[in-house]
Amino acid sequence: MPLTHLPPPSSRPPRRRSRQIHVGSVPVGGDSPVSVQTMTTTATTDTDTDTTLRQMATATAAGCDINRVAVPSQDDADPLPRITARPPIPIIANIHFQPRYVFQAIDAGCAAVRVSPGNIMKFDDKVKEIAKAAQAACVPIRIGVNAGSLDERQLVKHGSATPQALVESALWECSLFEERCFTDLIAVKHHDPQTVTSAYRLLAAQCDYPLPLGVTEAGTPVQGSIKSAVAFGVLLSEGIGDTIRVSLSAPPAEQVKAGCQILQSLGLRPRQLEIVSCPGCGRLQVDIHRLAARVEAAFEGFPKPLRIAVMGCVVNGPDESRDADLGVSCGNGKGQIFRNGEVIRTVPEHRIVEAALLEEAQHLSP
Ligand code: SF4
Repeated sequence: MPLTHLPPPSSRPPRRRSRQIHVGSVPVGGDSPVSVQTMTTTATTDTDTDTTLRQMATATAAGCDINRVAVPSQDDADPLPRITARPPIPIIANIHFQPRYVFQAIDAGCAAVRVSPGNIMKFDDKVKEIAKAAQAACVPIRIGVNAGSLDERQLVKHGSATPQALVESALWECSLFEERCFTDLIAVKHHDPQTVTSAYRLLAAQCDYPLPLGVTEAGTPVQGSIKSAVAFGVLLSEGIGDTIRVSLSAPPAEQVKAGCQILQSLGLRPRQLEIVSCPGCGRLQVDIHRLAARVEAAFEGFPKPLRIAVMGCVVNGPDESRDADLGVSCGNGKGQIFRNGEVIRTVPEHRIVEAALLEEAQHLSP
C-alpha cells in the first residue's frame, strides 16, 4: 500500500497547553493547528500597493496562514486601510519606532499588532493606552523580544542576550499588559537555534501564552531552513510552539514552503507533495538531480497529497517506487514508471516527467 495512504503515526507530539487567541480568522494556541506566517518584503508605500497584496497572494497559495507587513514610518502606516480592506489572509502590522503607528494599525483593521518594545520610543509609557485600544478592537498585541533590541537593563544584568535575558525581558513587557488585564502573544528571537530552543523552553514553563517560534535572521535558504528546522523540530516535538515563521533571505513564499515542510515532516500538517528521491551514486545512469527538481516543479500545487519516488537505479528503485503513489526507477537512460505499486510502462528519460508521471497522476485511485 502506498505510504501516503497509511494512517498517521499514533504518537503525535504532546502539545503544551496554551491559551487560545485569534489573529483575525486564524486561531492561534490552544488546540488549533500550528500556523505558518511570513512577512512581505514590499513596502506598503509602493505607489501601487497591489505589489504587497500580490506577494501575500503568492505566500497564501504556498500555504501561509498569517502575513506581516512592516510599518516603520508614517508613510507606511497611511496605506494600511487600503491593504487590510482585501487581504487574502489576516495581516499583522509590524510596528517600529513610534507608538502612534500602533493605534493607526488597530484603526486600519489589522488583525494583530507586533511590537518590539526595544525598538519603539517610550513604549512602556504607552502600554496603558495601547492595551485599551487593542482590547476595544479585540486585536492581539504580539510582544517580540529580539536579541538585537534587548532592553539595556537585561543586557547589564546578564552580560549578553542569554536565553534567561530574553525571557525575563519578554515576561516583564507582558506583565505591563497583564496589569491592564490584557492577554497577548509573546515571542523571543535569536539567530542561534540552541539559544532559541533554551529560551522557548524557559518561556513555555513560565506562562501560558501562545508562542510564535522563530529563529531570527536565520540566513540563506539552505542554512536558514536547517537552523529553523532544528529549533522548531525540537520545540514542536516537545509540544512548544503555536505558530512559526522561517526567516530566510528568500522570498516570502519560499519561507512559507519551508515552514509547511517542517510541519508536514513532524506530522503537524497534512502531507502534500513528498518527493522520495535518491542522492545518486556511481550506479547512476540518469541526471537524477535534474530529474528530481523537474518532478518537484511539475507537481507543485498538485491538488491531492502525493508521494513520488524518483530513484536513480534498480538497486533501491523498484521497492521505493512500489511504496509511493507514483514512482520512477531509472536505468540506462530509461525510466520504469510505477503507479499505486504496479509497473505501468517504461519510457525514455526525456519523457519521464510530462509524458509519464503527470499523465499517470490523472489515473491515481482517490
Ligand atoms: Fe545509487 Fe541507485 Fe541508491 Fe540512487 S538508488 S543512490 S543510484 S544505488
